[in-house]
Amino acid sequence: MKRAFKYRFCPTDAQAAELSRTFGCVRKVYNLALAARTEAWTRQERVNYNQTSAMLTAWKKTEELAYLNEVSSVPLQQALRHLQTAFTNFFGKRAKYPRFKSRKKSRKSAEYTTSAFRFRDGKLTLAKMAEPLDIVWSRPLPEGASPSTVTVSQDAAGRWYVSMLVEDPSVQPLPATGAAVGIDVGLDHLLTLSTGEKVSNPRHERRDRARLAKAQRQLARKARGDGANRAKARRKVAKVYARITDRRRDHLHKLTTRLVRENQTIVIEDLAVRNMVKNGSLARAISDAAWSEFRGMLEYKAQWYGREVIAVDRWFPSSKLCSTCGTLQDRMPLNVRTWTCDCGTTHDRDVNAAKNILAVGLTASVCGAGVRPQRSTPGGQSAMKQKPLRREP
Ligand SMILES: [Zn+2]
Repeated sequence: MKRAFKYRFCPTDAQAAELSRTFGCVRKVYNLALAARTEAWTRQERVNYNQTSAMLTAWKKTEELAYLNEVSSVPLQQALRHLQTAFTNFFGKRAKYPRFKSRKKSRKSAEYTTSAFRFRDGKLTLAKMAEPLDIVWSRPLPEGASPSTVTVSQDAAGRWYVSMLVEDPSVQPLPATGAAVGIDVGLDHLLTLSTGEKVSNPRHERRDRARLAKAQRQLARKARGDGANRAKARRKVAKVYARITDRRRDHLHKLTTRLVRENQTIVIEDLAVRNMVKNGSLARAISDAAWSEFRGMLEYKAQWYGREVIAVDRWFPSSKLCSTCGTLQDRMPLNVRTWTCDCGTTHDRDVNAAKNILAVGLTASVCGAGVRPQRSTPGGQSAMKQKPLRREP
């Protein structure tokens, strides 16, 4: 199984300059190709990867874009491949139309394939660089591992990372278990499990969010003209944000590893982030990034260990349905945390929802029908009316 290992590293001044230049060229090429493809799209034509690759060759020959020749050509080609993937996802209705990369907001990264780096004796040297990267080996690579892809990135707080994709023989399927769990994303807690367990947000999350809000207010107050102070305020925001994401990622890693180890089948709701963010408190409880990160981790770890993740339709009325007798309540306002059904069962709102999510996921799984997310369906429709459910691809 291929697995990415990510480390921090400290670039020399020359390396930092080379990488910054490369990030800029990657962004430029991506945006130029996106503009060309968009322009074709408005004429109802499609431009494919090979065509953008030919465009890149032509751009490099112009005086205006000659600087693209100064950096390794591989990350530029990879940028075109990433754009191709973004379009494939868009045409497959799995993603929105690709967006331009912004100098300030977009993730700075460059991807190198084997022809553009050398990995020897535990030292990684990238194309156009004389010296190997000074990597902080926070954990060892698997014995004898040799990376097939290397991605260098810099986060908003200015920290440098290198991620290496290697074959990891230690990742083996776990012994099968019969256990299954349903997961509800809630208001009061990060997650509620069908077992009744409630998983809270990472520690300090609330305080960190307050700090982030304060730093953002300070940034907003800095006058446009005041460059130095504004940059300082922006770095402060990035630092607080980086700490939140680090803590959250750590929390989610522990959580997803445990869920995957303990359960054969994990059923989640296919939540549309856009819908969640409309509700202010829900947005506070779990940001869009946290949810997609959680789901991503769950899915790749399930694949590593031979487990199954099932996503059920987000319009399934999990909160309104009694998990004991199956009676559907007319309405279930968000402020109702516990309720008693006519059958006499008293439910915790979130635990009941998680139980229903588990039940609908297992039914679909047993029937072989599966469940498919409906990411962009506007307006609410009950999943009950949409049988047969389809499997998540
Ligand atoms: Zn009932």
